[in-house]
Amino acid sequence: MITIEEALSIILAHIKPLRGGSFELAECLDRVLAQDITARYNIPPFANSAMDGFAVRAADTLGASPEQPVSLSVLEDLPAGSISDLEVGPGEAIRIMTGAALPAGADSVVKVEDTGSGKVDNKRREMVLIYLQSSQGDHVRLAGESVRRGELVLERGVVLRPPEIGMLAALGYPRARIIRPPRVAIVSTGDELQNIEEELLPGKIRDCNRYSLSAMVKKYGGTTATLGIAPDRKDHLKKILSLACTTDMILTSGGVSVGKYDLVREALREMDGELLIDRVAMKPGKPLTFSMVRGIPVFSLPGNPVSVLVSFLQFVRPALLKMQGKTKLRKPVVEAILIEDCEERTGRTHLVRVTVEIEDGVYHARPTGPQGSGILRSMVLSNGLMVIPPNRGPLKSGIKVKVILTDQPEVE
Ligand code: AMP
Ligand code: MG
Repeated sequence: MITIEEALSIILAHIKPLRGGSFELAECLDRVLAQDITARYNIPPFANSAMDGFAVRAADTLGASPEQPVSLSVLEDLPAGSISDLEVGPGEAIRIMTGAALPAGADSVVKVEDTGSGKVDNKRREMVLIYLQSSQGDHVRLAGESVRRGELVLERGVVLRPPEIGMLAALGYPRARIIRPPRVAIVSTGDELQNIEEELLPGKIRDCNRYSLSAMVKKYGGTTATLGIAPDRKDHLKKILSLACTTDMILTSGGVSVGKYDLVREALREMDGELLIDRVAMKPGKPLTFSMVRGIPVFSLPGNPVSVLVSFLQFVRPALLKMQGKTKLRKPVVEAILIEDCEERTGRTHLVRVTVEIEDGVYHARPTGPQGSGILRSMVLSNGLMVIPPNRGPLKSGIKVKVILTDQPEVE
């Protein structure tokens, strides 16, 4: 049986980033940019005031102080969004708001806090008292000081965060080319499964994998096409899987173990799928298969609700991220102190669900109770997976262990 690392490298070798498409900015968050963005305009497009205050000629304010203010005539008020037709001459000022274009003649702005009201002048114009000497360029934002026209601002391959989205808008791009969200088909298999809307019949259980998997796909940037429940019949499985072949990735759960009615593997084989991985030396999640069917990656995940989630985190998540052009694919792994004895040992790598907490800068990990692959609660209570190498003896409280922080963002 191959190891987790071997399985992951086989999977990633078969995953290619999708092509770029044009999307509205509202859909671009967390997506990978598929074009270089060169500035077509200066930002800001014109010199403007960084403060509410008075646009002046700096030379007029020479020696101004609260004790010896300079008195200037106010020509008009200039709100943001307006352009002045006037020119500020010697002894004159224009009351200017933040963001308004600097009027002709003025070379600096005195902020309102450094001014006071004076008497009216001989033309009955309002006067302003300037309490502070100003220098050329004070409180003026120059055209192009943030971005210069022609400059390469965003490079293909960056992940668009809110600042990059704002930058695209500032540069006049209502849309951008990004790697589109992968469409992922989800098929639950098993004669025992029922839709959650229906009343539970004897011997049946609710299909929870469909929901946890859809949530995972969404969390990691994909969109889902849910194909419902497939019964344990090969012809039916083949039909549903064929339908799913119009998507970018297929996830099935259940039906890949060694039971008489575990028919997913066989259905994929009869569809000429190339079986690349058949079982992985891990617990939970051993009966995972990975195949390429008609050019589409197919993950056949085990049916147990914990196995489904753990195998998703280990294998599907990085594949899905790579498809979106992302390069940070790993969850952070930290060293933690185990704070409870842990008896588990197997011939496979065991991923024990733990609660991780930081105390005085040190990580502490506590197993989340019974670890059966069907005990979804062990997952609900956890925010980490403790990695126990194969054949490691019982683990005593106080030793150092490796923990994958499953809720943290990916790292390089
Ligand atoms: P299987 O791999 O098909 O033998 O399934 C393993 C276990 O997982 C069985 O107990 C199934 O009933 C259970 N299981 C399979 N699919 C689901 C599902 N979609 N939701 C909840 N439990 C499931
Ligand atoms: Mg089954």
